[in-house]
Amino acid sequence: MRQVMIEGPRIVTVVEESDPVLADASSAIVEVSKTAICGSDLHFYEGDIPVGDGIAVGHEFIGTIVEIGRDVTHLRVGDRVLTSSVAGCGRCDGCDTLDPVTCVDGPLIFGSGMLGGGQATHVAVPAADFQMLTIPEWLGDEAALLLTDNLSTGWAGARRAEVRPGETVVVIGLGPVGLCAVRSAFALGAGTVLAFDPVPERRELAADSGAVPIEGDVVHAVLDATAGRGAHRVIDAVALDGTLDQAFASVRAGGTISVIGVHDLTPYPMPMLMSLFRSITLRTTTAPVHQTWGELLPLLEDSTLRTDGIFTHTFALDDAAEAYRAAASRDQGCMKVMLKP
Ligand SMILES: [Zn+2]
Ligand SMILES: [Zn+2]
Repeated sequence: MRQVMIEGPRIVTVVEESDPVLADASSAIVEVSKTAICGSDLHFYEGDIPVGDGIAVGHEFIGTIVEIGRDVTHLRVGDRVLTSSVAGCGRCDGCDTLDPVTCVDGPLIFGSGMLGGGQATHVAVPAADFQMLTIPEWLGDEAALLLTDNLSTGWAGARRAEVRPGETVVVIGLGPVGLCAVRSAFALGAGTVLAFDPVPERRELAADSGAVPIEGDVVHAVLDATAGRGAHRVIDAVALDGTLDQAFASVRAGGTISVIGVHDLTPYPMPMLMSLFRSITLRTTTAPVHQTWGELLPLLEDSTLRTDGIFTHTFALDDAAEAYRAAASRDQGCMKVMLKP
């Protein structure tokens, strides 16, 4: 098999390795047909999170089952499947809620040093019945890839913001997850979505989805648009200290901040006193991916939710170094990069 590795800041290689084997009777092996680079992979690439001796990367992948353990009951060899980027044991009361983040053994994430990397030709998947979804025939590859993480995360961000019909929602950061959050907020009935990103092409995509693009000073723009009150809900798809500050300053009293961006390892100094006196709810999550499938598939099937415009570039897996350079540039209209083994 071939596997994409990040060996240090901006050092991407594709290495030959022995094929993965079934770890136990509940596992399966997937031959990857398409995989994607995620914003969180760029934390390894850009050196925000150390990679030690190198990490086999990739947590978004779809493909075909080529081998299966004898205890797997819901899947067969030959099935076209997607796999949750976040994995659970599949047997505990946390996993029973379909949220692997609450797995009693702790969630495991593909391509982070915990499980195999999905930017590869083959991946071993533990507890396959739990982790994998057979892709409905009507669902395209791009949407299927987005159900492994980005759409599930954007949707979870909007759900956990508790968007109610007619409300004003701010989305900070309009990469793939942020754009999915914009579309999810509308699917949940948001009246106005104010969408911020420094990249003009990303603002245009959000505007094309019905949002009001904002640039420059986010807080001023939000206060201007809400008669000084602030937005009901703020979804932060970036989670830098600066964007968190913007979220706290642009949410109205009694409102909710829903954080789905990936912060670095340094603690954020949260404005506790202001949050207390303004009754702010702060929620954070990595996506309960498995839980979102049942909610999202009907919305995709009837086109309530769109997934167009997100994938902009495709590279061969062997050209991963070039693909990472394009993804990290975040310009030339590069939203999301697909890799084909
Ligand atoms: Zn991802
Ligand atoms: Zn579990």
